[in-house]
Amino acid sequence: MRIAMIGTGYVGLVSGACFSEFGVDVVCVDKDVRKIDGLRERGEIPIYEPGLDALVASNTAAGRLSFTTDLKEAMAGADAVFIAVGTPSRRGDGHADLSYVYNAAREVAEHMDRYTVVVTKSTVPVGTGREVARIIREANPAADFDVVSNPEFLREGSAINDFMRPDRVVIGAETERAQAVMRQLYRVLYLIETPILFTALETSELIKYAANTFLATKITFINEIADLCEKVGADVHDVARGIGLDGRIGRKFLHAGPGYGGSCFPKDTLALVKTAQDFGAPLRIIETVVSINDQRKKAMADKVVQFLGGDVTGKTIAVLGLTFKPNTDDMRDSPSLDIVPALQRAGATIRAFDPEGMHEAAKHFTDVLYAESAYDCMAGADALVILTEWNEFRALDLDRVKTLLKAPVLIDLRNIYNPDDMEAQGFRYSPIGRRSVG
Ligand code: NAD
Repeated sequence: MRIAMIGTGYVGLVSGACFSEFGVDVVCVDKDVRKIDGLRERGEIPIYEPGLDALVASNTAAGRLSFTTDLKEAMAGADAVFIAVGTPSRRGDGHADLSYVYNAAREVAEHMDRYTVVVTKSTVPVGTGREVARIIREANPAADFDVVSNPEFLREGSAINDFMRPDRVVIGAETERAQAVMRQLYRVLYLIETPILFTALETSELIKYAANTFLATKITFINEIADLCEKVGADVHDVARGIGLDGRIGRKFLHAGPGYGGSCFPKDTLALVKTAQDFGAPLRIIETVVSINDQRKKAMADKVVQFLGGDVTGKTIAVLGLTFKPNTDDMRDSPSLDIVPALQRAGATIRAFDPEGMHEAAKHFTDVLYAESAYDCMAGADALVILTEWNEFRALDLDRVKTLLKAPVLIDLRNIYNPDDMEAQGFRYSPIGRRSVG
């Protein structure tokens, strides 16, 4: 089997590398010449994703994975072409911007000279697959092809494992011929008995949005319960465990925090809201989730300011973690993008450290001082704020933290420490949905 992967970003590069590990010949294409040159000439991985460098190196060396900017070359002899380009929020209205997908479809049409399965791996609203098919037919009436929807459920930070051992694979394919090609591509997963769901095109497209918006709702639910916990003196950790052990609810995605962010949930919740409104079936739950989450990210800076006495003018705040979650360098829609500037507007100086995200972060923030390490970040600061739960922040030497900070004050927006320990250590401590100390 041979495939072309259009778009060599978080999803395209991981999917391409994993398919090549499955034994498929993969050519990854991107318009970004620097990215492709780096991968091809120096084996440079453009993103931070654990294990990806080794996977790319071994499959490149085995001759199953290659990179190009030339789609024609990538499509030569391909059984399937995957479209894994970005679908960001469209400026102004929140609909998914499908221009990259449709441009890719036009380019695919131009180079199609044999039966090809065109697979949308990007997260695309209901109806996009049909439109991709229309575009290809219009541009190349002789083209022999099927359009398939195959949404991706991997998570940044554990992307390789998620791709190789998924809970399920969803394939919207409506002809036997296309189904056979997809079955062959995912043969390795059949062998390990991964559930593979064949559906209609529209169903598959909607499954991806329904999954992401459900998870965003779960997070938002526990965040609101956390706020209530603070008012009534309950502990959100215990509440989450108490409800999560019920198999109908499940324990995952019940961690209270500063609001969801990242490259998918914010844009996908918004896009589904827009789709539902367009079709006259508004999703009021998701509309509310979107608005609660927006307000929450903004309210987090206030929480910090209030804990510091209501005025942070002239204070230095040490911020640990800038990316939207650990084990990625992705800053897209990270809560830090709201919280850091709001603290600056309130008069604070921000000193920050993130293990992998500082290069990306520097493109978004102004006047942030970047530190060499977590301890370097907090030296002489008035307070410490944890924004992302990187492992290295979970086990800080608290005696050292106390001597480095001007005063032992920790605002823990990820609940990675616990109030009793912090009290015993002599900290003033503010978590989310749990007892504050001091
Ligand atoms: P990304 O921005 O990291 O990568 C997209 C790449 O596509 C870029 O490198 C860009 O240069 C390239 N590109 C755009 N148009 C092109 C064209 N015509 N030809 C060749 N290359 C082109 O995006 P991503 O995070 O990988 O997301 C891709 C899609 O997957 C989105 O729809 C996203 O919602 C979905 N998705 C993302 C994740 C995630 O965790 N990032 C998870 C599941 C699904």
